[in-house]
Amino acid sequence: MTRNPYAVALSIAGSDPSGGAGIQADIKTFTVLGVYGGAAITCLTSQNTRGIRSFQPIAASYVTEQVKTVLTDLPVSHIKIGMVGNAEIARALSLILADFNGEIIFDPVLAATGGEPLSENNLISALHDDLLKRITVITPNIIELEKLTSHPCPDKNQVRQAMDLLMDRYPNIRAVITKGGHLKENEDTIIDMLVLKNNHAQDRNEFIASHPRTKGIEFHGTGCTFASAFTAFHMHTGDYQQAFFKTVDFMDRLIAQSTEMKIGQTMQPLATHLLKG
Ligand code: PLP
Repeated sequence: MTRNPYAVALSIAGSDPSGGAGIQADIKTFTVLGVYGGAAITCLTSQNTRGIRSFQPIAASYVTEQVKTVLTDLPVSHIKIGMVGNAEIARALSLILADFNGEIIFDPVLAATGGEPLSENNLISALHDDLLKRITVITPNIIELEKLTSHPCPDKNQVRQAMDLLMDRYPNIRAVITKGGHLKENEDTIIDMLVLKNNHAQDRNEFIASHPRTKGIEFHGTGCTFASAFTAFHMHTGDYQQAFFKTVDFMDRLIAQSTEMKIGQTMQPLATHLLKG
């Protein structure tokens, strides 16, 4: 049960009409984990499990209007941001979220798991200039972490340094979670890492979760699902560390369940609808 059962999570992300990623993945995850979720759309995409055909950003003013309309009505305690798409939307979100006092969890989507771009060229500098200063938790994968920090991350030590760079630069960021799937240091194990900022900015705690790598099957929507599960577990516990370990465990169970079930032709969507939180 959520600490406040009336609290609402708002996903601000792209739409994946094939249901594996984006707002569709977020709402399924919130629902299976007992959280009421809303969704404001930043971009439409045309895609299926074979790949992304194209994406179309929504006018930034209309993204603002969606978010504002929800925030002026519903008791939103947590916002989860996924695909932003372009610099205009990043700037608009930064403005509309300036007065939001809850948690803002950001999964910095730049490209699809299959490699197709999901952002326009100028997005990264707009994230740095505008949106990142609003964020309280960021959940990059290794590739996104490298792109955001311009710091190569071939091993765990370099990953940790890049995570510290993000925390140094943005005082609002309380927690950085790096999903280690792309780190090839160990073939059989994935290492996810949480770094938490304590009251004194330089005093940080590191937590590691290692779990088995699933081989021979490529999943779609894992980044979105991870960040929305973390959002839901943080709503339940109010604690970053507990939410992190619960999310890693949830993802392991979900992936184990999803390998049994082939929904897509190519990239497998997760079978979130079959899992009990
Ligand atoms: N958001 C949208 C709308 C997408 O279409 C995708 C990938 O296709 C993503 C986010 C990122 O997906 P993943 O969770 O696989 O990184």
